[in-house]
Amino acid sequence: MPRPLRATIHLDAMRHNLARARACAPGARVWAVVKADAYGHGLARGMRGFAGADGLALVETENAVRLRELGWTGPLLLLEGIFDASDVALLRQYGLESTVHCAEQIDLLEHANLNGPIDVHLKMNTGMNRLGFAPHACAAAHARLRAIAAVRRITLMTHFANADELEHPHLGMREQLRRFGVGAAGIDGERSLSNSGGVLRQEALAGALASDWVRPGIMLYGGTPGGRSALEFGLRPTMTLSSALIGVQQIDAGEFVGYGSRFRAERPMRVGVVACGYADGYPRHAPHGGPVQVDGVRTTLVGRVSMDMLAVDLTPVPGARVGSPVLLWGAGLPIDEVANAAGTIGYELMCALAPRVRVTED
Ligand code: PLP
Repeated sequence: MPRPLRATIHLDAMRHNLARARACAPGARVWAVVKADAYGHGLARGMRGFAGADGLALVETENAVRLRELGWTGPLLLLEGIFDASDVALLRQYGLESTVHCAEQIDLLEHANLNGPIDVHLKMNTGMNRLGFAPHACAAAHARLRAIAAVRRITLMTHFANADELEHPHLGMREQLRRFGVGAAGIDGERSLSNSGGVLRQEALAGALASDWVRPGIMLYGGTPGGRSALEFGLRPTMTLSSALIGVQQIDAGEFVGYGSRFRAERPMRVGVVACGYADGYPRHAPHGGPVQVDGVRTTLVGRVSMDMLAVDLTPVPGARVGSPVLLWGAGLPIDEVANAAGTIGYELMCALAPRVRVTED
């Protein structure tokens, strides 16, 4: 019998969250972001869960090809664009749209023998300073792209660094929008602006954030950027990580638990051992006190997370025994809360789900 640890993917919740994104950004078409194997949910499940999206966006060219092989016929967008000349051929062969974020990518397109139209997304760097042309350089980049006969549609895009904050002390969405407006002046074509943070902020920014396309990722998986509650936005968790107790220890006051003896019992207590560790993707640095549920009751982690196991305080669950169900994250225990306790973000937990974890779907 396999270990009791498993992840369950909820396709209905994925559909529901996509509908929420549409409701938040009325009039915009939606790229559902499915990079990193659909944020750890599995590429094929991402495709099925977001079958109602206007397009799928990702960074892995090989996964874009796989999506075509899996039967996705709608638009596909490469968020980092092409990496070398061989990718240019893939754009045509598989009908992929490409982000263009640097001069070297334009060089590749100019030198390619493109025998048909391609659609590109010119990326503007409005302050994140990761990918994209400076606002003042966009017009020239746009003109170079326009001069390539095979280039059909050029969408202007940017990416928010602090998308859950309108007025971040260093770089709020408002400031990025201002810079975008400067760089985009005089350039026609569609606009693609918001990630989840922007989609969830549409109302607060009224019309300023309106765009032809939005690119939500994390909200489609029931998480939020910036630690705000997904429930507050009517989002549903799309991944449940569950397991069971595989051991129970009655320990005396003064005893220690786990590697490094980091947790010392102040009183006699029962400790449950759960089949889930860092080799499954649970963060090793999760602290004592991190939230977990045993038999539907909230309790806390104790001691260090080890490779295959973690330990929990069974004081609030006196009836718990070997075989009792454990919820690591899912409905009732938001992944963002677990991530926050461990000093990380829901994105990382989803993406870090290890290949050895059995995945089922409902
Ligand atoms: N757009 C781009 C260009 C991205 O890189 C990402 C992810 O980092 C997204 C959209 C989706 O972001 P989020 O998951 O925060 O919605």
